[in-house]
Amino acid sequence: MTMTSRHRPLPALAAPVSPPVAQPTPLRPSATQPWHRDVIGLLTWASVLVVVALWVSDGQLQELGGWASGVNSIGRLAGLVSADLLLIQVLLMARLPLVERTYGQDELARRHRLVGFTSLNLMVVHILLITLGYASQDGKNPFAELWDLVVDYPGMLLAAAATVLLVMVAVTSIKRSRRKLRYESWHLLHLYAYLGVGLALPHQLWTGEDFLTHWFATVYWWSLWIAAAAAILVFRVGLPIYRTVRHDLRVASVVEEGPGIISVTMTGRHLHRLPVAAGQFLIWRFLSGPGRTRGHPYSLSAAPTGSSLRITVKDLGDDSGALRHIRPGSRVAIEGPFGRLHPGVRTRRKVTLLASGIGVTPLRGLLEALPQDPGDVTLVYRASSEQDVVFRREIELLSAATGARVVFVLGNRIADRSTWLPQYAAHLSDVEALVRLVPDIAEHDVYVCGAQGWVDSMKAAALDAGVPQRHIHEERFSW
Ligand SMILES: Cc1cc2nc3c(=O)[nH]c(=O)nc-3n(C[C@H](O)[C@H](O)[C@H](O)COP(=O)(O)OP(=O)(O)OC[C@H]3O[C@@H](n4cnc5c(N)ncnc54)[C@H](O)[C@@H]3O)c2cc1C
Repeated sequence: MTMTSRHRPLPALAAPVSPPVAQPTPLRPSATQPWHRDVIGLLTWASVLVVVALWVSDGQLQELGGWASGVNSIGRLAGLVSADLLLIQVLLMARLPLVERTYGQDELARRHRLVGFTSLNLMVVHILLITLGYASQDGKNPFAELWDLVVDYPGMLLAAAATVLLVMVAVTSIKRSRRKLRYESWHLLHLYAYLGVGLALPHQLWTGEDFLTHWFATVYWWSLWIAAAAAILVFRVGLPIYRTVRHDLRVASVVEEGPGIISVTMTGRHLHRLPVAAGQFLIWRFLSGPGRTRGHPYSLSAAPTGSSLRITVKDLGDDSGALRHIRPGSRVAIEGPFGRLHPGVRTRRKVTLLASGIGVTPLRGLLEALPQDPGDVTLVYRASSEQDVVFRREIELLSAATGARVVFVLGNRIADRSTWLPQYAAHLSDVEALVRLVPDIAEHDVYVCGAQGWVDSMKAAALDAGVPQRHIHEERFSW
């Protein structure tokens, strides 16, 4: 079904939480440039190059002539690159605003995995080669050598503990084991990675000659360690505390949107100074009742007004279910805003929003906030049934006011095919159906949000329909 009416002005969509007063223009997240990505990539590769150059300047190439010294030397290089990547990994996940804005959560998580597993593999190579090299030099059994290395060398017991922690974090991050864990348990285990990184420092300082042999090496490594620690303290601890205290968010209202779905509107101080845009998400901690320490990501489901923020939550588990009982006045701690699903990443006049299930929340906000002429914006909203459609009235009002096209695609998914299509469209391929709904999609910016499977199949269909990768902006509601 398609709706294209536009005959009424846009009324207030959510119950007003305070008398309408003139608000200062809300702060928006600053836009990123395509070259930001190149600079971040370049800095990463440059750091690896610096480490290799330091290894060469330390005369390590000459060591490659002998078997034992050569094995030791390559082992040392593997350890250095591993340490470098470990710290880059910390920087990538420190929620540095520029990095966040450039990549977005989904891509950052993918890069985090790639850099993390590469660093861990190199660490294992480092341990193996150093043990074999020293064992060969000393004429010892490698197991006895490993034992001696761990107990005799300064900082090595701590390094062994760091290795155990980092391996544990890596194992629990493998998809199969991750699926067996609750998000909270996985997240808690993951935090041990910071302890692991911290425990590795004394080993590098006390036994890693490369750390201290040249003044430039000392400056380089200390700068990297200090930058990583400072980034975590400032952006993962300091900034969230500052924003929570400064904005003093309180629950203003809780409204039932449909079966198992509620909207929570929050008001606070100086919210126009929070650099947040429609489509972004924050990590929220509701500071009353059980679960106050557990943060959950929820997207804004309406454009921020400068005096209030609204989220809409589907009951999918303990904490999302408990939210319906939250009392007005409850305090809310925030981390963020995060995410690249906002108007600032738009590059073309025409825009298609692809929403599925509760993944409609940020796209509902974008439908409201995107500057548009009639017909510029199309929302394709996929749900299993009419009952599962959230915001139907709000969306219709927005469509009427802006002239945006809205297409609801309802019905259960085709069971025997990996697809986004409902049963009645089984004769079409994913891309054929998408192009029927939005014939000129190749000329659109595409925003897609929802569960992993939905985002994957819509992204594939959009690419097949000729939308270049750089015009697709995605957010997965998964971890
Ligand atoms: C970027 C992003 C934006 C999101 N925006 C919204 C939104 O606007 N509205 C909404 O209803 N939901 C949203 N979600 C999903 C929401 O975060 C989870 O449903 C919620 O955290 C579940 O918490 P719980 O304790 O009730 O669930 P649990 O009982 O812990 O688990 C229930 C289900 O939710 C998943 N889940 C749990 N914690 C998280 C987490 N931190 N991140 C992702 N999935 C999780 C679990 O894998 C499980 O499938 C978003 C997720 C992400 C990643």
